[in-house]
Amino acid sequence: MTKPAWSILPDEWKPILAERGLRAFRADQILQSLYRDCIRDWDGATTLPKDFRETLKEEFPITPCEVAAVSESSDGTKKLLVSFADGEAVETVLIPAASRFTQCISTQAGCAMGCAFCASGANGLSRSLAADEIVAQHMLARSFGEVTNIVVMGMGEPFANYDETLRALRLINSGRGPNIGARHITISTCGVVPGIERLAREGIQFELSVSLHAPNDELRSQLMPVNRRWPLDVLLPACAAYTAATKRIITFEYTVVAGVNDSRACAEELARQVRRVPMAKVNLIPLSPVAHRPDFRTPDESTMLMFLDVLMKRGVQTMLRRSRGKDADAACGQLRLRRAAAPREAAT
Ligand code: SAH
Repeated sequence: MTKPAWSILPDEWKPILAERGLRAFRADQILQSLYRDCIRDWDGATTLPKDFRETLKEEFPITPCEVAAVSESSDGTKKLLVSFADGEAVETVLIPAASRFTQCISTQAGCAMGCAFCASGANGLSRSLAADEIVAQHMLARSFGEVTNIVVMGMGEPFANYDETLRALRLINSGRGPNIGARHITISTCGVVPGIERLAREGIQFELSVSLHAPNDELRSQLMPVNRRWPLDVLLPACAAYTAATKRIITFEYTVVAGVNDSRACAEELARQVRRVPMAKVNLIPLSPVAHRPDFRTPDESTMLMFLDVLMKRGVQTMLRRSRGKDADAACGQLRLRRAAAPREAAT
């Protein structure tokens, strides 16, 4: 049985080596080769004996993957198409800012959640990614700059692929791995309650965002089918339990869609709902237009400001977020694989 090298946590190498009669210091050499030298082939691990490199190649392969296409937006945001051996591919986005360089990673190719305004789910789920394929996106991104923050806000629902996602994030977080601080890693869920409950028990300091997008069940179920399974009276108490257990805040994401969830009444109702969760804040994001729903429009600035004002006046800590990467189809909710177009892009 082979096990991808990028799925093995640093502490797991020692027993693997012991089984083969190898000394523990080899683990450090392996980790340095993988995550400091960023080798893509075991032949590059020159500190290791040649016959051991052959064993590693056979039993612990480094996931074959490549950046099949790059598109850059005028604001400096880059979208990479990362493809794997079976021909499946996902998008990952690199977002530069003054003091940080954020990578938005995907956990699934496509998505089964079917949120109305999100392009990633428009064609359903193709498949979930394995931990090494999530790590692969990060390892490939490192040649584009020093990533400081990770947001799990790319394609897919992380809590529909919980184990592989958490394994990948623990690895990316590890000081003997890529070493991205836990507080610089944000997981975003559309509201899969068992995932929120499990994360509360992990004893790890990752940040949690919950995509809310509507202040009542009627509207939320229309926009997000997941709400029929876990409605607000289940979701919000689970969020409150999470903040109580972890003493960590939850950020509610609210994508504002013109004429759909942008009224003053919606803002007032949202403030009431959010206040059920101690230690919550809200990020307001203007809708990024998506091709499959031309009827969904971006609200104007004054609507965003009105919404912000209502929430702030009711004591809800709120941030207005700007969309980045729009002209490269890299903004929130725009990640989607155009199957016919991908191979053509890859050939150029
Ligand atoms: N499945 C996870 C993570 C992926 S989406 C989740 O739902 O949270 C990351 C964020 O982008 C979510 O808040 C999502 O609702 C939002 N989003 C999706 N489509 C969007 C669009 N067209 N415009 C703005 N935000 C969008």
